[in-house]
Amino acid sequence: MSTQIKLHNTRTRRKEAFAPIDPGNVRMYVCGPTVYDRAHLGNARPVIVFDVLYRLLRHVYGADHVNYVRNFTDVDDKINARAAETGRSIREITDETTGWYLQDMAAVGALEPDAMPRATEWVPAMVALIERLIEMGHAYAAEGHVLFAVDSYAKYGALSGRSVDDMIAGARVEVAPYKRNPMDFVLWKPSDDTQPGWESPWGRGRPGWHIECSAMAHELLGESFDIHGGGNDLMFPHHENEIAQSCCAYPNAEFARVWMHNEMLQVEGKKMSKSLGNFFTVRDLLDQGVPGEVIRFVMLSTHYRKPMDWTAEKARQAEDTLRKWRAMTDGVDPGDMSGAALEALADDVNTAGVIAELHRLAGKEDAAGLKATAGLIGLLTDALGEWCSLEADVPTKEFQEKVEAYVTARLAAKSERDFQRADEIRDHLASIGVMLSDGPQGTTWHLDHTNPNLGNWEALK
Ligand code: AMP
Ligand code: ZN
Repeated sequence: MSTQIKLHNTRTRRKEAFAPIDPGNVRMYVCGPTVYDRAHLGNARPVIVFDVLYRLLRHVYGADHVNYVRNFTDVDDKINARAAETGRSIREITDETTGWYLQDMAAVGALEPDAMPRATEWVPAMVALIERLIEMGHAYAAEGHVLFAVDSYAKYGALSGRSVDDMIAGARVEVAPYKRNPMDFVLWKPSDDTQPGWESPWGRGRPGWHIECSAMAHELLGESFDIHGGGNDLMFPHHENEIAQSCCAYPNAEFARVWMHNEMLQVEGKKMSKSLGNFFTVRDLLDQGVPGEVIRFVMLSTHYRKPMDWTAEKARQAEDTLRKWRAMTDGVDPGDMSGAALEALADDVNTAGVIAELHRLAGKEDAAGLKATAGLIGLLTDALGEWCSLEADVPTKEFQEKVEAYVTARLAAKSERDFQRADEIRDHLASIGVMLSDGPQGTTWHLDHTNPNLGNWEALK
């Protein structure tokens, strides 16, 4: 094997040479979505990042030797609340949301994992795991709940490097009379008649969130596997709790060897999240005409361990670049993949380095190399190419000059306070899919690819 992959391991805080437990069966688990609503753009970041790692592992170890599992959390109080609000059944909501998720992630070029377990289909495995933890003295039942006893696991907090005292101080721990230690977390909780529930040794109830990943990873990947991933907001408490559960139940195994966490997608310096309300969905962007390939390109332009800001300007630049590259590689058979790009990708998934190499290949008009190398990170693929039908979407030089002339005329109208004329020009351009934005650097324009008149350049008067 010629390519040595190196990955930054959250657990050791170092970049390490990656050596799979079994190169014939490289195993990766990534925490998936809670399915009650459309995925927001932040949710797409881990999907795209771990998709690229999946592609790299398949390239290095062979497509049949990689096993990638990503779960669907389809039992959660947010889902129950959504069902109560809308009067729809839980199953209807989770089925619909799961379908949306798969469509939206396919639109940004993510391959489907090898397995996508739904939590509700693995409840017996969770119950068995909880029973095992009770038998081994790591969990206790109290008032219809089962709690994990954090005092029973000396390494609790090691992943995120916090002491239990820090965690108590920093987290909003729920104090409850049945908890021996306020940090103890729920493995099982009782359900009333309106809530989904399963029969268990502790009465009718439902699992806490963390236990599902421990149970499904164990069932599908075994006691020890190679890589566990997710966003860094999951490091504590979710991943800390997964480790406590799995390492206590199987003390002679390793659970996950390498822990990888992507940094957050931000909007104006704050994490994009549903609870902060500063989010937009992947579907919103697709519907506004931002191609999935553009979203993927922008995401991969920043290294996964750095925070990244989504901006419309980045999307516009990415679209320009992809249009040029698609025009250059149209009908070209992929040639040799760039060794420098592969090396960058193997160096802790340095996708920004791969993109720099793509620019270099495009600069020397190596279309065959560009196409092969872009394919390594899932760009310029046939699957993602539909948005860019070249004849219709590439404006001619003459057209660009006309638009520029209108932009100048509109500016002149504005400076003469002839706002009616300025608006007329803006509306006229919009009607054929040319969208203007006024910013500090002046007026820029981009094409709205959902406009059916787009490509009808003659319509521009
Ligand atoms: P959730 O459905 O909130 O549990 O999140 C699903 C996945 O998306 C997890 O891996 C989260 O860490 C990740 N995630 C959530 N918000 C963001 C964000 N703003 N940027 C990057 N990843 C995120
Ligand atoms: Zn998980």
